[in-house]
Amino acid sequence: MTPVVRNRRPVALVIARSNNSAMSETHALPVFMPAIPRQRWACHSCGNCCRTLVGHLFEEERRRLDEQAWSAELGVEPYVRAGRQWVLNKHPDGACVFLDENNRCRIHARYGEAAKPLACRIFPFHVRPVHGGWQASLRFDCPSVAASQGEPLAQHHAWLGELARTLDHFAPAAEVTPDLRRGLAAAPREVATIVRLLTRRLEDRRDSLRHRILAAARATDLLQGAQLENVRGRRFGELAALLLRVADDDGSPLPAPPRPRQRAMLRQLVFAHAEHVSLDMLLAGRIANWRQRWRQLRAARCFRRGKGLVPRLPGARRDVTFQRVEAVPRPKERGREIEDLLLRYLLARIDGHSCFGDGYYGWPVLTGLSALWLSLAVIGWLARYSAAQAERGHMAFDDVAAAVGTVDRAASRLPALGTVAERARLAYLSREDGIASLIAAYAPLPSLPA
Ligand code: SF4
Repeated sequence: MTPVVRNRRPVALVIARSNNSAMSETHALPVFMPAIPRQRWACHSCGNCCRTLVGHLFEEERRRLDEQAWSAELGVEPYVRAGRQWVLNKHPDGACVFLDENNRCRIHARYGEAAKPLACRIFPFHVRPVHGGWQASLRFDCPSVAASQGEPLAQHHAWLGELARTLDHFAPAAEVTPDLRRGLAAAPREVATIVRLLTRRLEDRRDSLRHRILAAARATDLLQGAQLENVRGRRFGELAALLLRVADDDGSPLPAPPRPRQRAMLRQLVFAHAEHVSLDMLLAGRIANWRQRWRQLRAARCFRRGKGLVPRLPGARRDVTFQRVEAVPRPKERGREIEDLLLRYLLARIDGHSCFGDGYYGWPVLTGLSALWLSLAVIGWLARYSAAQAERGHMAFDDVAAAVGTVDRAASRLPALGTVAERARLAYLSREDGIASLIAAYAPLPSLPA
């Protein structure tokens, strides 16, 4: 029987668990799709993922590539070892060795879509084992996802369910429930409650998106400071709803402008997000990694000071100053589309459970949510940088979409973002309304006054 999960659409699939004799029977498991109204997607063969991502291979996929004997045709090895894993090989410009001159995959062209590695087939979706099934989320570093182009998300359920059948390697023996706050384990029902309350509030269009986001961010801060130990189960839901209403009432006035230290912390976080994991980095030896680390430390110091030229971020074409970046005004055109993009991004991360627990460095739910709200300020800074790079007078939709893609690609993938130091930064900023101040000052929300 297919389980019914409120607010989500299960897809029936059969997972054969073969790594344990006791698991040799088959299980019907659902895939939970994130509820993101107006989200569409279809692959438009831009080749972006083939140029920017590192494709990990399962052992059987590696063997299949061997049987297909690609080395002679490609002129290079089809895959390489990176640490303990095998990954698809890349050209020096970052493009996958299987990407042809028409942005098509050679494996797909010769053997069909089903012959491609799972990492390539499933992108831009991502699935993770959760209580009773697989939780799907969506990645915004695919331009078609950011622009919401293609078929409605619902049309991909069956296809994703088919792909998930091959994931028996990851079938969970038991669910790992995240903490609500550090040291305070959450019940699945409490996680579902907070996800439901926040997604409903974000989608309530009776007031501005700015107001909704500030209310959600402030409610998260209030929950962090509440005595949650004695308020569990149904009472936790009542408290969360109450604090959201309190934060709503406080959400009208704009927060105070961020203080210099808060701005410096944001710039450091921007730098931490902008790092890009390339195959070269994975393959680099220890000495190369130390050199890279030294360059990063120097650049991180520059970001903290925030004066003079911005150290060039990946993809930069020209030098710009910090002053020039921070002076770029808010978006003046396509405001509704930009708000829609930001809302879809937030819903995907929250309802896709990719901002806490197993979806985000094992972080507690409330800490992960704080990081998500703050990521809007990071997106705003990166969108300004992109506009300054293009010598535009204001942020355009494409600047914001590129920034959302950069932040979403970094989230849960870059080790630096999951450190104790990052949690300490969030704890500091959560005090004195720092996260709300940075969102108000930097998030690319057209409805905010300049
Ligand atoms: S980035 Fe998205 S649209 Fe572009 S090739 Fe990859 S899946 Fe297709």
